[in-house]
Amino acid sequence: MISFEFSEEQEDFRRALVQFTENVLLPGYRDRAARTDYPFDIQRQLADLGVLGIGLPEQFGGTGVEDPITLGLAAETLAYGDVNIASAPVQVGLVGSQLAHGTTAVQKEYLPRLIAGEITVAIALTEPGSGSDAGALRTVAEPVAGGWRLRGEKTAISWACNATATLVYAREPGSARSKGVSCFVVPTDTPGVTVSHMPGMGCLPLGWGSIHFDEVFVPTENLIGEYGRGFHSVMGHFDFSRAALGLMCLGAARASLDEAADYALQREAFGRPIAEYQGISFLLAEQATYLEAARWLCYRALWLRHAGRPHTAHASMSKWWPPIVAKDAIEAAMKIYGNLGYATEFPLQQRFRDVMAYLVADGTAEIQKRIIAKDVLGGRHGK
Ligand SMILES: Cc1cc2nc3c(=O)[nH]c(=O)nc-3n(C[C@H](O)[C@H](O)[C@H](O)COP(=O)(O)OP(=O)(O)OC[C@H]3O[C@@H](n4cnc5c(N)ncnc54)[C@H](O)[C@@H]3O)c2cc1C
Repeated sequence: MISFEFSEEQEDFRRALVQFTENVLLPGYRDRAARTDYPFDIQRQLADLGVLGIGLPEQFGGTGVEDPITLGLAAETLAYGDVNIASAPVQVGLVGSQLAHGTTAVQKEYLPRLIAGEITVAIALTEPGSGSDAGALRTVAEPVAGGWRLRGEKTAISWACNATATLVYAREPGSARSKGVSCFVVPTDTPGVTVSHMPGMGCLPLGWGSIHFDEVFVPTENLIGEYGRGFHSVMGHFDFSRAALGLMCLGAARASLDEAADYALQREAFGRPIAEYQGISFLLAEQATYLEAARWLCYRALWLRHAGRPHTAHASMSKWWPPIVAKDAIEAAMKIYGNLGYATEFPLQQRFRDVMAYLVADGTAEIQKRIIAKDVLGGRHGK
């Protein structure tokens, strides 16, 4: 028996989000996306819709049980209206599930406000000298009385400029690779923390930036999870965020294809609507097929996680391919719009720039393929 249906509860949730997407997100997307400030009024509305607490502890306003499929559904549905806003539930899920392993004081400090849409928290792993090879990170956490002192630099961090705090991955002095890396939560107004904006080609409201740590004191209670196990912990959480990000890109692509289909039906060339030419209709048909295939790959990865089955390879498949499928579909939509596809008056070019971020963020295609290849080759490598 196989089912591709969402539960009745998930369908109700999706319908509520579709309404919000059509009435609130889609009409303002292009203008919001051109600004560098994050719209916290919308973040609070997401909280009211129950989008930000998915899978996070109930006592702080969350739904309690990890629910990756619903989280993916939320990201996909919201991205139809605004792909930047749609990344909020994924980020909150990723951050919140790590904060849930913090001390009670840390949980109380951050989780209720995160779930209520009042604050954001960044994840600072990448450094100027280590991105794909995250295990080569150099930020140091030097043990001192009552905690640690952090020094180092993180770069290309989403939410850096609007975050109240950041999760920082730093290593014990003298440790190497993934061993000895711990996760700490650090308020961005701590003395010694400097945040700088990094201009990017898209995702502007997400406040992309670098964060410098100059002998920053972090108290013992701000350690998240086990000391020296921070690297393994964050990699495990990427297994759900990767599929959710894939769905998010596909949601933005679906909006673009719907717009292109409407346009193709009304735009005439050589005396006929361009939709009547197979050069256009087959392009739409092909892109719709790719979107459908990529979508179910992502849901399969999330279903495997939900079922407690191995899903690392599927998560990586959902991260390398669907964002490319989405980018290609948006490009096809731009082509169908002719010169207007290039015009900033329409959202297509903006979606293209925003979706491009996910070809790199959270691990490039090459890094995902390394993970998949390890799974495919298993013990057979070299035989
Ligand atoms: C919009 C955006 C948002 C981001 N947000 C965050 C964030 O919130 N937090 C955070 O910590 N980081 C974030 N990042 C950083 C992101 O995770 C890294 O950029 C990414 O992991 C790649 O690292 P890199 O840029 O250092 O590239 P490099 O690691 O230098 O790679 C350069 C190129 O070499 C390729 N390459 C590297 N190793 C191999 C290999 N073994 N085989 C084949 N090819 C290889 C890569 O695929 C890439 O094409 C973000 C990046 C972007 C663009």
